[in-house]
Amino acid sequence: MTTPQGRAELPKTYDPRSVEGPTYQRWLDAGWFRADARSPRPRFSMALPPPNVTGSLHIGHALDHSIQDYLARVHRMRGFEVLWLPGMDHAGIATQNVVERELAKEGKSRFDLGREAFVERVWSWKAESGGRILGQMQRLGDSVDWSRERFTMDEGLSRAVREVFVSLYEQGLLYRGRRIINWCPRCLTALSDIEVEHEEVPGELALLRYPLADGSGWIEVTTSRAETMLGDTAVAVHPDDPRYRDLVGRTVRLPLVDRLIPVIADEAVDREFGTGALKVTPAHDPNDWEIAQRHDLPAVDILTEEAIVNQHGGRFEGLDRYAARREVKQAMRELGLLVGVEEVTHSVGHCYRCGTEVEPRLSLQWFVATRPLADEAMAAVRSGRTRFEPARYEKTFFAWMEQIRDWCVSRQLWWGHRIPAWYCPDGHVTVARQDPTACGECGKEQLTQDEDVLDTWFSSGLWPFSTLGWPEETEDLAAFYPTSVLVTGYDIIFFWVARMLMFGCHFQPPTPFDVVAIHGMVRDAQGKKMSKSFGNVIDPIELMDRYGTDALRFALVRGANPGGDVPLAEEWVEGARNFANKLWNLGRFVILSTGEATSAPSDRGTPPGSPGPPRPDPPGAGAALADRWLLSRLEATRAAVTAAYDAYDPAEAARLLHAFAWSELADWAVELAKPRLAAGGEDAATAGATLAYALDVTVRLLHPVMPFVTEELGRALTGVETITLGPWPAERPGDRDQDAEAGMAFLQEVIAAVRRFRAEHRVPPSARPRLAALPAGDRQAAVLRAEAESIRRLARLEAVEVAAAAPGGQPVARLLVAGAELYLPLEALLDLDEERARLERELATLDGERARAEAKLANPAFVEKAPAAVVARARGRLAEVEQALAKVRAQQAELAGAAR
Ligand SMILES: [Zn+2]
Ligand SMILES: [Zn+2]
Repeated sequence: MTTPQGRAELPKTYDPRSVEGPTYQRWLDAGWFRADARSPRPRFSMALPPPNVTGSLHIGHALDHSIQDYLARVHRMRGFEVLWLPGMDHAGIATQNVVERELAKEGKSRFDLGREAFVERVWSWKAESGGRILGQMQRLGDSVDWSRERFTMDEGLSRAVREVFVSLYEQGLLYRGRRIINWCPRCLTALSDIEVEHEEVPGELALLRYPLADGSGWIEVTTSRAETMLGDTAVAVHPDDPRYRDLVGRTVRLPLVDRLIPVIADEAVDREFGTGALKVTPAHDPNDWEIAQRHDLPAVDILTEEAIVNQHGGRFEGLDRYAARREVKQAMRELGLLVGVEEVTHSVGHCYRCGTEVEPRLSLQWFVATRPLADEAMAAVRSGRTRFEPARYEKTFFAWMEQIRDWCVSRQLWWGHRIPAWYCPDGHVTVARQDPTACGECGKEQLTQDEDVLDTWFSSGLWPFSTLGWPEETEDLAAFYPTSVLVTGYDIIFFWVARMLMFGCHFQPPTPFDVVAIHGMVRDAQGKKMSKSFGNVIDPIELMDRYGTDALRFALVRGANPGGDVPLAEEWVEGARNFANKLWNLGRFVILSTGEATSAPSDRGTPPGSPGPPRPDPPGAGAALADRWLLSRLEATRAAVTAAYDAYDPAEAARLLHAFAWSELADWAVELAKPRLAAGGEDAATAGATLAYALDVTVRLLHPVMPFVTEELGRALTGVETITLGPWPAERPGDRDQDAEAGMAFLQEVIAAVRRFRAEHRVPPSARPRLAALPAGDRQAAVLRAEAESIRRLARLEAVEVAAAAPGGQPVARLLVAGAELYLPLEALLDLDEERARLERELATLDGERARAEAKLANPAFVEKAPAAVVARARGRLAEVEQALAKVRAQQAELAGAAR
């Protein structure tokens, strides 16, 4: 149904469920999120951080996507050609784990299937169960270009991965080497340094005594991993350590394995740590490995890949590392060689995927030489070519990049991009863009491909340009690269942002993105991390079911101060739902009350690209105070909201819009307009047109955050097909009107003062006193005269008089506001004696309470012994009582005028 003006009628209540799905589908059908690489418009592009194919939408995604969607929508409305490119990550370890767990239920392991069948199984898992998150993104309203959806393992991206691997190899920036890496004995794969999570755990520092081979004495070492002594091949001391000078060059008989090992001197030894003598286990410690390189020491690997002691561990063979630790200590104790045990807490690395304690392990892996790449990435940030928002995260980025180490990129997994390296029987390595048929060095044809796959972050590091068709020189790459903004949480600056910058600056300069906009983590209302073990996890899908998508998005964005963590409680989402309802009711009121009254829309202000008829025109100059004030506040809000969006501060935009729509538009403007609308005629038309215009601008400003309810309102208000393509409300500096804002502020104060008096002195609503107002100047007098009717109605008065002097004779209350003295005759309002007595009683009660609170806080026994929270509460209560006292005294003062 539509009114004669082409406005749709709105249902009584806003029902998100019946609006969201169809609205999103309508957007998709219209193709409004599809980017055109040939468009003449300015470009705005973003690559969505690809969620894991195993993932489902969690509250962190909801925040991350809400922020990106607001950016996409603001730019779309402002006339940019917007590309927001979606996709998924194959998530190597995570996905392989999921499918392995599935197999385990069938009593099988991946080895039962073999590599090819297993990988096939993962692909079919992906087809059936993977990518659930994509549907959930649609519920969230993500305005992504689904026609460009990518997957890190699809053909094009795999080609990009291969190109980068081979190029890095050719440039000498990628090599294969034997190093100590982080090994997960459960996932059976290498991990990069940042895939290891360090945790403080209790342990024991054992003091072990190693006898000198000639029986002339001993040397003592400390370790928290006693089992590693089975792999010791030296004891190292500092060359300048006088305690050990005589021992350097001598030989020690390693207990339990009976191996003769040298005492060596190396400057890397920390003289202050433990005894100052270091057991050297080259196969199980990265620093020891380096010492071993310098002294040509052998490396004895004592653990299997499952971290079980192997044949080099003698009688401890077959024990896992923890049992071996106990048994080794016990055996040493029995020999009298465990001379001390100290309880300590120390930092231990755990696998970021499964939580298993990581084992440093010597193995042959592929590494990216990151230093030159990191330097290029840092240069891009230093020069300002890429900017962090907020800027403080640049420091975090530099700190990490400065101490970056070579990146271990090979993973002993089956799911991922297989390393394009082949080995011939003579051990030559052939790395090639096309699968080779013969060794590049000797021409032998018996080639075997490297078994390993690449770290997942290797392919996601190429995301900003591989998704646009790189290494081909595509139209998309030319049009949308570098991307405009990367939005992501601070938790993956190193995992991901740093890698994208390294690869992007090197392979597709100048940079993968102009701006990195960092946000925080969603936490509970108390600021606590959400986790299953705390039981405080919030499910975004449930919240959308209960309160609607707009409510969830608004609550998240409103808390998202730039770069900071985002607290969230269900009540706040509920509050945001109430806000959506408030807007809806406002829209209904405006449409119902202006359907007949609004003049036909003018032909002004329809920019290109906006479908449907033009928007309502605001009234011109000379209008009523309420109209001029509303337009002025609207323009101020428009400017501030636009600036906040531009400053990556959608939280500020959300707060401004909430305050404006709820208080100024719904509470004041509508209330002031009601009698004018009811009276009809030209003034009613002006009042209606102003309200309709203000609401239209408001829903457009809010659309990037609450896309659904605003689209529905925007369409109903003006009959346009959509507001999602804009236009963005234009700047109208001429609407700013300081005079109107000052006048309205005065009017609001007068009304608020009378309302407050009525509430505080419990004046019955039926009582209608006459107000005598004594203005401070001509301007206030003019406002009082012009707006007398509004004041009368909104403050529930019989009449409003502008007085030249304070009224005498009868008892009156005197209220002071900025710009006027207000007098209310008391006779009709309240029983003065009774009210005075009531205030006296209240004063007495509060006085008593204050005395008790003060006594309590003066008692040292209480202040010192009670829990801090209880003392703080008592202090808070005292402050409250003091405030209440001041208020009662002010009320008494108001009645004092009655004595005249
Ligand atoms: Zn693991
Ligand atoms: Zn060869």
